[in-house]
Amino acid sequence: MNGSIQIPPPANEPVLSYAPGTPERAALQAKIEEMASTTVDIPLIIGGKEVRTGDTTPIVVPHDHAHVLGHYHKAGPAEVEMAIEAATEAWESWSRMAWADRSAIFLKVAELVRGKYRTAVNAATMLGQSKTAHQAEIDAACEYIDFMNFNCMFAEEIYETQPISDEGVWNRSEYRPLEGFIYAVSPFNFTSIGGNLAGAPAMMGNVALWKPSHSAVYSNYILMQIFQEAGLPDGVINFIPGNAAQVTDTLIEHPDLAGIHFTGSTTVFQMLWKRVGSAIAGYRSYPRLVGETGGKDFIVAHPSADRAGVRTAIVRGAFEYQGQKCSAASRAYLPRSIYEAIKDDLVADVESIGVGDVADFSNFMGAVIHQDAFDKIQGYIERAKASDDAEILVGGGCDDAKGWFIQPTIILAKNAKYESMCEEIFGPVMTLYVYEDHDFDDVLELVDTTSPYGLTGAIWARDREVIRRASDKLRYAAGNFYVNDKPTGAVVGQQPFGGSRASGTNDKAGSQLNLLRWVTPRSVKETFVAAVDYRYPFMD
Ligand code: NAD
Repeated sequence: MNGSIQIPPPANEPVLSYAPGTPERAALQAKIEEMASTTVDIPLIIGGKEVRTGDTTPIVVPHDHAHVLGHYHKAGPAEVEMAIEAATEAWESWSRMAWADRSAIFLKVAELVRGKYRTAVNAATMLGQSKTAHQAEIDAACEYIDFMNFNCMFAEEIYETQPISDEGVWNRSEYRPLEGFIYAVSPFNFTSIGGNLAGAPAMMGNVALWKPSHSAVYSNYILMQIFQEAGLPDGVINFIPGNAAQVTDTLIEHPDLAGIHFTGSTTVFQMLWKRVGSAIAGYRSYPRLVGETGGKDFIVAHPSADRAGVRTAIVRGAFEYQGQKCSAASRAYLPRSIYEAIKDDLVADVESIGVGDVADFSNFMGAVIHQDAFDKIQGYIERAKASDDAEILVGGGCDDAKGWFIQPTIILAKNAKYESMCEEIFGPVMTLYVYEDHDFDDVLELVDTTSPYGLTGAIWARDREVIRRASDKLRYAAGNFYVNDKPTGAVVGQQPFGGSRASGTNDKAGSQLNLLRWVTPRSVKETFVAAVDYRYPFMD
């Protein structure tokens, strides 16, 4: 097509309120009821076709684990091979398709989620992953729509980036997709991340095998169906839930593995990296390894900080979605003056938090994702109860009889290196460390060196000099750094997300930086009038 094509300028998707009386609330409640009372049978999707292996796993509701929503079929080695074949076949034409045509598909995905499928993706996220209406809306609807729309614009910006040319020469950069397939491995905690891990490389002309998390198959399957409805050609993204280790074993040494797009725990990403490292001589290209992993995200308050603001940042930052956000605040350093001033209100806030079925909209929290998570989090709480280095300030209750419920819990650590100050717990557990007001600078050193991660963090202070000093001292402690705000809630296009150190490769999901990892540029020099004599003038 002739024309300088431009992506419609994106804007962040407005978050619907779901307040009583709103049409979105009624529609969502009806959808939850409908999905809760039907049983799904989720196939693999390979080369655009549904594949049922008969090897199935049930999908349960975390806040009511006896409630089975259906089951999903699992890919075995044969299906993984089929998916590689389907992807390889699709690559021939997809990798050559004009970017505007590719973009049209993803812009349509955004539109389908905005309207027709908004309630379905939100309801599936609520039932399958135990998110409240608000948490589902900001993830499965809004962040996903933003990923699709903004990434199309970032892709356009990449393609527009062109070299200069000397007289008589025309230089061009051609942003080729990678040769081979991308292995997209997604976590349970964000529906939007699942679709984006497969979608972002596909947007740049790549093909992908998408292995969703066992605990997010329902919502992720709906996103897969939306890709198809939007016109994504068969085989460009292949949906292959299954045993993670087995799926990985089947494809990890394949010569056409062109990249891994991963979000999940640090341990798994490091294992994938090692596997690729030991197979490195056998690949056609060096696989691109993009991983966003764990965090031990902090709030550090200076004595000059706004007290009500700090208190609210702790509650929202630590307990929304049961603390199961990679960005969740999980350690806070408070000067004694602020701790004493906010302690009672903080405890009262936490005690007022409703925990239960997310279909009851008055609840602020649902259940944690599965039994293993419940057991792990309970272990931290029980050890804190027994330790001389810690005490439970509020919460501490755990009950897995009906759902995997953990009360929002604050641990008070007497030792700044107590285990729950250092390790990712991934649950509704915040640990506070109280320091003497005059020790602020020593505390910054502690914040920087206590955990191996570098994902998110917040500094709270009124004093500008303090903000400047802390920002400098904590330069590498967080890839998303907040001043006087909670360390969660990054918005696509506004705060590109990701961290370094043990938190990942910091390729910033939903930004140009991420999309650049999925292209391999070709520099083309075209000379209009070629030299016809090999001798240079200096030789005369
Ligand atoms: P997880 O590591 O258990 O699982 C993530 C994915 O890896 C899943 O699809 C899982 O099936 C797969 N996996 C597990 N074992 C595997 C193996 N042997 N081979 C290949 N794949 C394997 O993580 P999770 O519990 O789903 O998510 C929570 C983690 O994700 C936390 O550590 C959190 O901090 C992190 N996270 C990070 C970000 C970020 O942007 N930094 C965002 C969301 C979640």
